[in-house]
Amino acid sequence: MAPIINLSMVQNQFQYIIIGAGCAGLQLAKALLEQSSDLVSSILLIDAEKAHQEKSWCFWHDNDHPYRHLVRNEWSHVEFVAESLKVSEDIHPQTYQYINSLDFHQYHLNLFEKDDRIKIVYQHVNEIIPNNKINKIITANDIYFGEYIFHTNLVNNLKSDSYPKVWQHFLGWEIEVDYPSFDINNATIMDFSLNDSKDIQFFYILPFSKTRALVECTFFSKQLIVEADYEILITKYLSAKLSCSFTIKAKEVGKIPMHIVDLPHWQSDTIIPIGTAAGCIKPSTGYSFSRIIQHTEEIINAVKLKKKIPLRRSKPRFLFYDKLFLHIIDYESFTMNNIFFYLFKNNKIITILKFLDEKTTLLEECIIFLGLPKMPFLKAILKSK
Ligand SMILES: Cc1cc2nc3c(=O)[nH]c(=O)nc-3n(C[C@H](O)[C@H](O)[C@H](O)COP(=O)(O)OP(=O)(O)OC[C@H]3O[C@@H](n4cnc5c(N)ncnc54)[C@H](O)[C@@H]3O)c2cc1C
Repeated sequence: MAPIINLSMVQNQFQYIIIGAGCAGLQLAKALLEQSSDLVSSILLIDAEKAHQEKSWCFWHDNDHPYRHLVRNEWSHVEFVAESLKVSEDIHPQTYQYINSLDFHQYHLNLFEKDDRIKIVYQHVNEIIPNNKINKIITANDIYFGEYIFHTNLVNNLKSDSYPKVWQHFLGWEIEVDYPSFDINNATIMDFSLNDSKDIQFFYILPFSKTRALVECTFFSKQLIVEADYEILITKYLSAKLSCSFTIKAKEVGKIPMHIVDLPHWQSDTIIPIGTAAGCIKPSTGYSFSRIIQHTEEIINAVKLKKKIPLRRSKPRFLFYDKLFLHIIDYESFTMNNIFFYLFKNNKIITILKFLDEKTTLLEECIIFLGLPKMPFLKAILKSK
């Protein structure tokens, strides 16, 4: 008797399933498709939403990365401003780079159209069921089977009770002015000069031209605020900084989790977190783009060598520093302005960026910490035990 073949199972079976066509899922799908068909035969990319919400993605990097051609703007200098301090430094050989997430999204969709190894579906994933032979995914409309499942930023992962938990939240206006007012070489990553609250609140400026810039009001805090409150602060900031009127061309609102990510309990060698779920968002800064590039490379190296796919891992001492920073943001936020002040007063910006990239030596880290206020860190160390 001929064997009974379940046709829907065969049609819905893939070598790789990627859940989440966001920053990490798209990077991974592209990198997998760059491999030969012997290594990568089929991919299913699933996302709950077809529409993509536009975001401004920035990161510091040299020219050597896979998305160099998508960089719309870049700045040679990075600036930090506080009430009595202003530092701006050339970060050569890196620049501070800006990619618009719509360009990024569309670029990947165009690439995928040309490769019949990948299928994209727009369905909400409800459940991932691990299985030694083949993993199963249940969506609102269908069931899919995958040898390897990669997943990111699913709502369930963010329900973690991991401690401490803080948000980076912000609202920005892209504005245009009549009179040349912005320095096109300088991206201001933090401007604390108008912070009169106890919260960690600063402004962020990306000048796209002498007359056009994105100006964001950013907080690191447990509590979110309503849009009108950010708008009051931006208006106050702009009236102090600009000597001319402005018009608002676009608006960006967002929140990014700043926490140490717990791996989900249903983790396995063939169900692998990427992006947000893998801890690619640096807990103390909210930046993720470069870390996602790195993790994607690590995954692809393992696929090529047919080795176990690695989870993204920070070195333990960098995780510890992140925990301390989060603890201080959570419990002693009023000291953070002072911490940032001394961080930028006592160190070159290029060293700070290297530290945030987790590429400094222990000696460099000791020098950084010796230049910071000690009490908040001592308290955080005692509490974290
Ligand atoms: C306005 C804004 C500005 C930002 N700016 C920067 C920046 O300058 N630099 C930087 O490094 N980072 C920035 N970030 C953070 C960055 O966007 C994220 O860290 C990054 O997108 C995380 O990538 P990801 O793939 O894990 O998640 P996402 O890019 O969020 O993608 C997750 C995808 O999964 C889908 N999904 C979720 N649940 C399900 C489900 N159950 N079933 C199916 N699909 C699902 C979602 O629809 C989404 O498309 C910004 C974020 C925002 C909101």
